[in-house]
Amino acid sequence: MAEKQTLQKPLPKRLLHEHLAPYKYRFGQACFFMLLTAASTAALPFLLQPVFDDVFTTNDPRLLFVFCAAVLSAFVIKGFASYGETVTMTRIGQSIISDVQNRVFSHLMSLDLEYFHKINSGELLSRFTNDITLMRNSVANTVVGIGRDSFTLVFLIGVMFYRDWFLACLSFFIFPAAFLPIIRIGRRMRKVTFNAQEEIGRFTKQLTQIFQGIRVIKAYSTENYEANRAKLQIEKIYKLVVKTSRVRSLSHPIIESMGGVAIISVIAYGGWQVMHHSRTTGEFISFIGALILAYEPLKRLSNLNANLQEGLAAADRVFEIIDTKRTILSPLKPKHPAKVQGRIEYKNVHFSYDPKKKALEGINFTAQAGKCIALVGASGSGKSTIINLIPRFYDINAGEISIDEINVRDWEITHLRKQIALVSQEIALFDLSVFENITYGCEDFSKDDVYSVAKSAAAHDFIQKLPQGYDTIVGENGVSLSGGQRQRLAIARAMLKKAPILLLDEATSALDTDSERHIQSALKKLMVGRTTIMVAHRLSTVIDADQIYVLDSGQIIESGSHQELLQLNKQYAHLWHRQAQGLDS
Ligand code: ADP
Ligand code: MG
Repeated sequence: MAEKQTLQKPLPKRLLHEHLAPYKYRFGQACFFMLLTAASTAALPFLLQPVFDDVFTTNDPRLLFVFCAAVLSAFVIKGFASYGETVTMTRIGQSIISDVQNRVFSHLMSLDLEYFHKINSGELLSRFTNDITLMRNSVANTVVGIGRDSFTLVFLIGVMFYRDWFLACLSFFIFPAAFLPIIRIGRRMRKVTFNAQEEIGRFTKQLTQIFQGIRVIKAYSTENYEANRAKLQIEKIYKLVVKTSRVRSLSHPIIESMGGVAIISVIAYGGWQVMHHSRTTGEFISFIGALILAYEPLKRLSNLNANLQEGLAAADRVFEIIDTKRTILSPLKPKHPAKVQGRIEYKNVHFSYDPKKKALEGINFTAQAGKCIALVGASGSGKSTIINLIPRFYDINAGEISIDEINVRDWEITHLRKQIALVSQEIALFDLSVFENITYGCEDFSKDDVYSVAKSAAAHDFIQKLPQGYDTIVGENGVSLSGGQRQRLAIARAMLKKAPILLLDEATSALDTDSERHIQSALKKLMVGRTTIMVAHRLSTVIDADQIYVLDSGQIIESGSHQELLQLNKQYAHLWHRQAQGLDS
């Protein structure tokens, strides 16, 4: 069962440990630029004191020149350092995002099939796009500013303390009071963003469902119904996004008012002292300059928290994927048999998708190497389940499934899956050419091999009639193919795989009877020397099987060859006669 790990370090720490570490050197470089920016910013108010107290009073033009040069250098250094810092930090931040994205993707690819059945594809899509974008923006807005602003602040505070420690204490007694509500705003921000992202995910999910079911929507004229449903969701997202912005901006009135109070207190007290000559004008101007300059970075830092929380909310959803553990893994000492015969054995296998309902109950059978067995039975009786347990798409609850007398759990998992060619009801074609679709996942083939399997799968002729032949792009954005044509490509793909085990789950169900007959002979050729388990709805396709198993509610109720089952005159015979009379085709 896929589960979320609960005992984890807090997210920001994890991001630092797991993702910032590789960029240590670069980060050091960025810190250097940050220090430079901060120092050159603080140099300006610092210089104001000598300008007022010395230059203006001594009337020395040389001194004036020296100070002008110093101020200009401070500005120029600040400009270049700030450029260097932004570029370096953007590189680091965006590299981290790309790393996370790659990590999520590879992790996702490794997850068990069960996970994909449970989570909606739209939801996943949304995490990949919306949440990652939000993380990207958050990084752009926060990481770049966070260091520079905090360093600058430290330097400016330094100047203030140097100039007048009492005034500095006074202003910083007032400023921090503003921070307490701001931290709370940050927390609320994370929650609101999380909700907004959830709703956006839900909307993406709704959209993918709608696009997949567009035919049904048209046929049942539910366009307006869907439009209304979408409208409700869009409205919900609108409200949450506005709320996010409102919460984020809540810090403005607080910070502005507090800033005002701090500054007027300082001006009142300091000004009074200047009037009474207990301090020089230069000292006071220098102090006020530093205070006013500190105000902007402080404001930005308070906003950064909201921004950061927004990114963390998105990261929460992204890391949820990373923290999902796969359970179907190779064992510690995997078996890797070189020569595989393909004997499949089910020993008293019990399996259920969810604990409430059994899907398979005590299944026993053996498919000798190179033989063909068939599974028949009503839909929902467990035929596909039996097929899906062989490549270990799921692990069974009790009993044993073995290939060549080795439990499938002891096999190295990719090696196990390499031995199996699967053609199922759902045929996936990718947005690639016909040629690439046939050779998908296959490493070792020649062009002639591809043509030859296409011919055997009765696909060569229709492929040649496609606009660009084998180079025609098929799949979602390519030429549309009929169900039968898609199935023939899937069969060709399986043929090319040269695996000793062949699993056919209603592989010919999308074909009309004519094409089915056509392809049947191809499949016969394919089955030679391979162990085949076939599921077929039309019994005419299974009569040649070495052994036929009839399933009902997850149990085998009859087995034997076609003739034996007919003589038994039970379920199978009943079904056969119905199909023969054309009552059920
Ligand atoms: P068949 O292929 O014979 O039509 P299946 O093997 O697909 O039947 O299904 C057997 C039973 O298991 C059915 O009751 C079905 O509802 C259930 N089932 C199949 N796939 C899943 C799944 N991914 N999650 C939960 N239940 C499933
Ligand atoms: Mg099925």
